Amino acid sequence: MSTSDCLFCKIVSGEVPAQIVRESERVVAFRDINPQAPTHVLVIPREHHVNVAALAGADAALLGEVLAEAHRVAVDEGVADSGYRVVFNTGPGAGQTVFHVHAHVLGGRGLNWPPG
Ligand code: 5GP
Repeated sequence: MSTSDCLFCKIVSGEVPAQIVRESERVVAFRDINPQAPTHVLVIPREHHVNVAALAGADAALLGEVLAEAHRVAVDEGVADSGYRVVFNTGPGAGQTVFHVHAHVLGGRGLNWPPG
């Protein structure tokens, strides 16, 4: 998928509105439109990579920034102490529907294991 077709690239550019909670030079965090927990924030690199495997191969430091921002989101949302989950659905078989890498940050309720 080219970046011009990518929903999350359009959120980065401002073409599609989103409720942004954190921004840094290379990373953006915004609320999921269909939240699965009281806190459900998506953390993405501004740069387009299709999934976490592609990002890890292309720029592991940027993946580190995404993870660091995910933790800052959890702190800001007040779920860092009670427990939260960071999930990268990777590939259609794992439920990935938007092919611009994103970390789901979920918290604010009990989270079962194993996930569905
Ligand atoms: P995936 O299924 O790829 O792991 O996660 C994609 C996520 O993007 C889903 O949780 C879905 O609710 C969210 N999403 C889809 N479209 C939009 C949108 O237009 N805005 C926002 N904020 N989230 C979206």
